[in-house]
Amino acid sequence: MKRLELKQIKKTFQSGEVEEEVLKGINLSLKEGEWTALTGASGSGKSTLLTIAAGLQPATAGEVIFDGKVLDSNNKKAMRQARAEAFGFIFQSSHLVPFLTVEEQLAMMLDVSGWTAYKREKKQRIREALDKVAMTHRTNAYPSSLSGGEKQRVAVARAIIHDPKVLFADEPTASLDSKRSIEIIELIQDVTQSSRTTTLMITHEEELLSYVDRTVKMSDGRITTS
Ligand code: ADP
Ligand code: MG
Repeated sequence: MKRLELKQIKKTFQSGEVEEEVLKGINLSLKEGEWTALTGASGSGKSTLLTIAAGLQPATAGEVIFDGKVLDSNNKKAMRQARAEAFGFIFQSSHLVPFLTVEEQLAMMLDVSGWTAYKREKKQRIREALDKVAMTHRTNAYPSSLSGGEKQRVAVARAIIHDPKVLFADEPTASLDSKRSIEIIELIQDVTQSSRTTTLMITHEEELLSYVDRTVKMSDGRITTS
């Protein structure tokens, strides 16, 4: 089943008098349970494409279709709802909130995604998410006391705690050594397979491509191989 479709996506940035066309008509279809890697040189437009697919910024032209419905960038409420409820995000840096404990970071994500439940049920869900990423022993820790790899594991737990349909990851392992990178990739693999998540991951690392279902390569605003 098609989960997310990009149709003729274009994006132009204006800087002063100069217009730069960063995406030149991208077509991409992502299936339920499918893990796609997006590769290509720096500046080729990967992050711009991912943020448009995720409804974080509008395209200049073209359509993003999620579960058969056009994500309309003029309908901010529907867009925000799709992002909060159905999408999960992991970035190169973990972006944890410095003054919240690990547990509170995850509780906040549940609140944002509109997940309502009794406190006990919520705690249980947080525990399960932390168990998945082997971080239950750090439930009450603050980010400053975590290593880089641990922070990123919490970021993975936070990205998946609301059971997103689509997981977006922009260079999720770029700041980790190769052992920690593999750990994160195996977690993403586990989630993608067990929850049938559609995962779109940008990476530069060749050795990670053997894990994914398919690799799409970008060059200068176009898809060159897929
Ligand atoms: P990648 O992730 O492949 O490295 P990006 O999508 O970040 O590439 O950027 C592609 C091009 O778009 C670059 O030339 C970048 O400078 C430009 N770009 C990205 N975001 C903006 C922006 N908000 N305003 C102007 N130019 C941008
Ligand atoms: Mg990028």
